[in-house]
Amino acid sequence: LSPVPSDIEISRAQTPKAVEILAKEIGLLADEIEIYGKSKAKVRLSLLERLKDQADGKYVLVAGITPTPLGEGKSTVTIGLVQALTAHLNVNSFACLRQPSQGPTFGVKGGAAGGGYAQVIPMEEFNLHLTGDIHAITAANNLLAAAIDARILHENTQTDKALYNRLVPSVNGVREFSKIQLARLKKLGINKTDPSALTEEEMRKFARLDIDPSTITWQRVVDTNDRFLRKITVGQANTEKGCSRQAQFDIAVASEIMAVLALTDSLSDMKERLGRMVVASDRNGQPVTADDLVLTEAGFGADIGMEKFFNIKCRASGLVPSVVVLVATVRALKMHGGGPSVTAGVPLKKEYTEENLQLVADGCCNLEKQIQIAQLFGVPVVVALNVFKTDTRAEIDLVCELAKRAGAFNAVPCYHWSIGGKGSVDLAWAVREAASKESRFQFLYDVQLPIVEKIRTIAQCVYGAKDIELSPEAQSKIDRYTEQGFGNLPICMAKTHLSLSHQPDKKGVPKGFILPISDVRASIGAGFIYPLVGTHTSLFCPSLSPGVCSNSCPLSP
Ligand code: ADP
Repeated sequence: LSPVPSDIEISRAQTPKAVEILAKEIGLLADEIEIYGKSKAKVRLSLLERLKDQADGKYVLVAGITPTPLGEGKSTVTIGLVQALTAHLNVNSFACLRQPSQGPTFGVKGGAAGGGYAQVIPMEEFNLHLTGDIHAITAANNLLAAAIDARILHENTQTDKALYNRLVPSVNGVREFSKIQLARLKKLGINKTDPSALTEEEMRKFARLDIDPSTITWQRVVDTNDRFLRKITVGQANTEKGCSRQAQFDIAVASEIMAVLALTDSLSDMKERLGRMVVASDRNGQPVTADDLVLTEAGFGADIGMEKFFNIKCRASGLVPSVVVLVATVRALKMHGGGPSVTAGVPLKKEYTEENLQLVADGCCNLEKQIQIAQLFGVPVVVALNVFKTDTRAEIDLVCELAKRAGAFNAVPCYHWSIGGKGSVDLAWAVREAASKESRFQFLYDVQLPIVEKIRTIAQCVYGAKDIELSPEAQSKIDRYTEQGFGNLPICMAKTHLSLSHQPDKKGVPKGFILPISDVRASIGAGFIYPLVGTHTSLFCPSLSPGVCSNSCPLSP
């Protein structure tokens, strides 16, 4: 229809195909799916076993240039491309999107189901709860957070013997160690399997984790953008006997449990990764893990960005990407070329609604840089120009021409948003052709390099920074993680996605900047080190949402 109706009108006008029928059409067996309502299902891991001898398909990553806060259409391009490949080129292809978090859904960005005639339906179910995984992650994450504080309280207030009896309860007069407890005993050098055989000293060693509260890195999480929970004080009731401390809530999808879910390939691997998660250090500087808390509950579980996808996800899965689809819009390129700022809810200025070839040409430096980043990994790039109705022919041709000159394998305009899959047929052909070439994929850095060198490599080669500056806090964490034997993990940078630099208002391709690293955390279970990029060098932002300096921050520019 023209004009294109609203996303929700398009979604509600459709009746989704019953998920059992869809599953059959794509070749799944009835017992390989677990159904949630009429239009949602999970696919069982047994499918991997059945298809283990089948060659891998082509693996295409959809990334984007540095976006405006409105989003430039990565989700719509992904859906449009799959519509074109499946319905128009007859290629069996699947879109793989993450479940939207309620933070952005109720924030500036809105949902993440795509839009126009290239969206996931039913939109409300997808954006809000889907199959409940984020809630399960929240529950598992907060159970662990509660266990940490409860453990500190009990260790402060109970005798060794009482603690021990609590951890190894007598059931019908019999005490038995669990498997995880036996592993902990082994780690402590106690080779005994009979709970009654431990000496008092061994019981003390086993029962006391002796967590240093100032080193706790495990935070509580909530799937709502609730700014008043960014810094909190826990344990203020009299019953907590003075075990009060400052803590914070993170957004649920930032939980390490979510990262574990995204990186794991089997239930046993997931259990191992969850057990390895480091939550704090003890008073001797040794890491305390989730397994040490004998916790048996498991949870199921942006800029994750291309760099993280390649260096972390592809390293973990062993899958080799064939093509990068890089989404660009005339709007975002104009912004990078010096156009006025773009704010959600504020009508776009005339620079964005009228032809302006100069702004487009100037802004293509960002597109060129993003193409070069993909090329660092040896993967061919197809630029998908997501066309908006205000874009002119001359602007569209200019972007495609400059993208090809910058080294893109191909660059094509896409119209999936306004007309559905047939609007992405040219993109589908381009992706198919690029995928038929041999991949020369390579990682950006060797994981054996020191943590600081890995961070510097990403800062310089990917963001274009001159160098990095570590806060004393960041340096001491790096020293601690290296001493604890975690120095050889890949790096997952927490940085604003609104600029290649650490400052969201620096558009285009910022140069000569020093990237401030305000803190470093470790997700040992998921398997990465997690540097927090601050917004200021030398002075460090006190905001607890690194990379996103809040308006209330006294150092906010
Ligand atoms: P991203 O995944 O990059 O964040 P989305 O695909 O979610 O972006 O798109 C963001 C919003 O922009 C959605 O509401 C979508 O409907 C709208 N949008 C995307 N492409 C177009 C287009 N070509 N014309 C108009 N609106 C669009």
